[in-house]
Amino acid sequence: MKTRVGLVVFSGGQDSTTCLHWALREFQSVRAIFFDYAQRHVSERQAAETIAARLHVPIKVFRLDFFRELGGNALIDSEMDISATTPEGDLPNTFVPGRNLIFLTYAASYAYTLGIRDLITGVCQTDYSGYPDCREATMQSLEKALSLGLGWTRPESDDSERPFAVHTPLMFKTKAESVLWARELGALESLAFSHTCYEGSFPPCGVCPACLLRSRGFAEAGIPDPLVLRAQGL
Ligand SMILES: [Zn+2]
Repeated sequence: MKTRVGLVVFSGGQDSTTCLHWALREFQSVRAIFFDYAQRHVSERQAAETIAARLHVPIKVFRLDFFRELGGNALIDSEMDISATTPEGDLPNTFVPGRNLIFLTYAASYAYTLGIRDLITGVCQTDYSGYPDCREATMQSLEKALSLGLGWTRPESDDSERPFAVHTPLMFKTKAESVLWARELGALESLAFSHTCYEGSFPPCGVCPACLLRSRGFAEAGIPDPLVLRAQGL
């Protein structure tokens, strides 16, 4: 993939930051796309822009008001509390229905205008709350739908590189494995500027489900979280 350009769907969070570093290693050049979809906090966008600037990666921000108008989600609606626990068989109230499908479809349109045929997303089906739009089967189907819809297909007989690809390098990694891999990719310095906390606070609150998941991953990997170290002035 050394001759190709990668477009990373970038949120400024831990996983997409790790993916950004992977893309920088794998592709000739890399761009990032950020969706401003009326998250409760501006800290996500600040994190994304800071990390992209430090790595000299061009970042394009698109506004997306649809999810705000859709409502009914704790990541967007400040009236709703983020639930720490989820009733058996239900999705948590932080699930934004179809968010990754929509993000990747928008990203594919943007990629098309730039002649980019490789999208990278940090979705992962391990360790998570069971978001159905993070699963490998969903991503493979979407890759197929997007290649057909954008006319990036090839004859069955051609077994060269995929003409269009949705890369999901974290798909089967646990949080701890992701942390170890981030260190290998040299991403820890960037992770000091990443954003995870659902409360949008810095230092991170340490008790919301996102903070807990992140701190458990770093603890299991035996690596101190560079974001926490930065918050402590270390
Ligand atoms: Zn938190």
